Amino acid sequence: MNYRVLLYYHYTTIQSPDDFAEEHLQLCKKMNLKGRILVASEGINGTVSGTIEETNAYIEWMENNSLFKGIVFKIDEVEGHAFKKMHVRPKPELVNLNLAHDIDPLEMTGRYVAPADFYEQMQQDDTVVIDARNTYEFDVGHFEGAIRPEIETFRELPKWIKDNKELLEGKRILTYCTGGVRCEKFSGWLISEGYDDVGQLHGGIVTYGKDPVAQGKLWNGQCYVFDERLVVPINQVSPTIVGKDHFDGTPCERYINCANPECNKQILSSQENEAKHLGGCTIECTKHKRNRYIHIHGISKEVAAERITILEQSLR
Ligand SMILES: [Zn+2]
Repeated sequence: MNYRVLLYYHYTTIQSPDDFAEEHLQLCKKMNLKGRILVASEGINGTVSGTIEETNAYIEWMENNSLFKGIVFKIDEVEGHAFKKMHVRPKPELVNLNLAHDIDPLEMTGRYVAPADFYEQMQQDDTVVIDARNTYEFDVGHFEGAIRPEIETFRELPKWIKDNKELLEGKRILTYCTGGVRCEKFSGWLISEGYDDVGQLHGGIVTYGKDPVAQGKLWNGQCYVFDERLVVPINQVSPTIVGKDHFDGTPCERYINCANPECNKQILSSQENEAKHLGGCTIECTKHKRNRYIHIHGISKEVAAERITILEQSLR
């Protein structure tokens, strides 16, 4: 384990995100890092991999920059790079809740709840726990009893909450996400909507899994991450599998992208079922003329047609 993955964010004011992103990309390349970093006028959010020395040099550079005073890095040990390339992209915002008036977490955010306290509070009767991530992240792992908003992107979350507000009425609310960047804004938005008892898991799920007291307890399944590992373990005490194969519902933690490049949906599937369905999440996707699975595996037109016929018969 000579490599590490860093995950971090910091809300701060960056005057010219475009210039900053360009310079930061050069810096990261010089440091031999790979990964994805977003830069906005409201701050920075990134995940990068590199050797221990390289990532240490990066942490030191960031900590010595007055813009990022107090930044926290979540560190995982890995066997090699967890990304193929290095991207630093300027964006209008770090995370997008699709609000007319965006929330500034530096002005309004939920109370920070340390992992050990989160573990205690989430078990109390007057408390609801909301997963602030997307359904494809929830489905491979989540806190026991957490609410699963039916959303495919973060910007759909406020509307979903408004449509389902009876779930939250009169309750203490706890929110959580992977590393914390989404909850900073989401919990602030909940307060702006009039909810007065709102807490956010400090440091996110990945910190909860490493906490010596919480030890990932009450987390079922794995945690979806945004690098080549795709999922990481969280519960150190009683790990379980909650992911279900898209095709047959059997326990599964293997992500694939739908082979239809216009769909590209992330689903859980065994290698066997992926082959059987030629990588398509639906029969329409399987039959798509640019099916990547057929292309990548060098399957001839005749063989593909034959397998689609068998598949269609089995679906009848
Ligand atoms: Zn599809």
